[in-house]
Amino acid sequence: MIPAETNGEKRVFLETFGFQMNESDSERILGLLKDINYVRTEEPAGADLIIINTCSVRDKAEQKVYSALGRYRGLKAENPGLIIGVSGCVAQQVGARLLKRVPYLDIVFGPQNIHKLKDLLDEVSLNRSRVAAVEQNASIDEGEYGYTEPGGSKAYVSIMRGCDNFCSYCIVPFTRGREVSRKSPEIIEEITRLAGAGVKEVILLGQNVNSYGTGGQGDISFTGLLKKVSKINGIKRIRFVTSHPKDISDELIYLFNDEPRLCRHLHLPVQSGSDGILKNMRRGYTASEYMSKVSLLKKLYPDMAITSDIIVGFPGETESDFEDTMRLIKEVRFDNIFSFMYSPRPDTKAAKFDGQLPLEVRSERLKVLQEAQREISIGRNRELLGRTVEVFIEGPSKADPSERYGRTSCNRIINFPAAGTESSLVSTGCIIDVTITEVFPNSLRGMVP
Ligand code: SF4
Repeated sequence: MIPAETNGEKRVFLETFGFQMNESDSERILGLLKDINYVRTEEPAGADLIIINTCSVRDKAEQKVYSALGRYRGLKAENPGLIIGVSGCVAQQVGARLLKRVPYLDIVFGPQNIHKLKDLLDEVSLNRSRVAAVEQNASIDEGEYGYTEPGGSKAYVSIMRGCDNFCSYCIVPFTRGREVSRKSPEIIEEITRLAGAGVKEVILLGQNVNSYGTGGQGDISFTGLLKKVSKINGIKRIRFVTSHPKDISDELIYLFNDEPRLCRHLHLPVQSGSDGILKNMRRGYTASEYMSKVSLLKKLYPDMAITSDIIVGFPGETESDFEDTMRLIKEVRFDNIFSFMYSPRPDTKAAKFDGQLPLEVRSERLKVLQEAQREISIGRNRELLGRTVEVFIEGPSKADPSERYGRTSCNRIINFPAAGTESSLVSTGCIIDVTITEVFPNSLRGMVP
């Protein structure tokens, strides 16, 4: 199909793999493309530009990109003017080799090169070149940020990039580079602009937000930044991910007490309950150090949700190490966890460790962990039954558009009927009191009292 241009507009189809950081990169890509007259389409057929924004944190990331590209091969054959690009971590890792392997691919660009996209597109369309941009820079050029388009009432804002921790299993320091913080005035300016455009909730993003400001280019601490963000008119809720247990400060823990706009949710990845495994993972804390931070949080804020990431089947993990992890999740009673079977990533230290475990052992442990956590999550949700909580409305419910869905401060999704409530109180971006009437493992149901 030959794409039709309307009013000089071109269409971009963008497919995103991965987590919030990639969602945020996709928002930046769309914001930048909007400036040069691209509009988003949900249909790859008919698009003028297709971008696959990739993630290599999960297993078989590279193969997933090749199979996604395979889906668009026919479209390129029908429309040779179609430009196809790959961005994100796989683009960074594989670089120009991707162009060699996929002859109909035009552009490969890494996370630090998003701001060059306009020039890359010019090079492809004017010179008919095929280009790769995967340079990594030691500093942040503010031109890299600041053009995120608000897609609704909430927005992701990257406050830093990269990571210096080099956990032994993780690919991020290789694909996103060393840690650098954006300067606080630019971040505040971006959030002020977003608030002016109707954004009411911001999610501050970094691989390790707790060390914001301590590395190159930093000018204030993370808690200093949060205090400034909480003074911006129009911002009603602030969230942040990801916190590193070794760097979370008491100052931050106590800030939840003083700042009501900070949501009562902390994602604090523990990864394992075994000190030996934590050491081999190079996490920089012991299980008891982790527990003491969690105990303080729970004592100060009984209503706070604490979630985590866990990897099972790390090389050398014994039954006893796994039992330590099971004990820890039962003791903490996490509201939810993201759990993964260990699988080796190229370039990481752990990929070469002795004691790689068979798939059956890793998958059995994952099953046991997830079953136990499911019960814990339901139990934590049951504790909320009958309580009235503030809900930030995110839109009409997917199953029944006459209802609304939103998020509690402790990051639970809740659906509730809107009929009978004044429409101005249940529009997207409003905060409304909802009483919790039913609980499920991953969501809640409620009613406006
Ligand atoms: S803190 Fe560790 S797991 Fe997180 S991004 Fe950095 S290296 Fe990866």
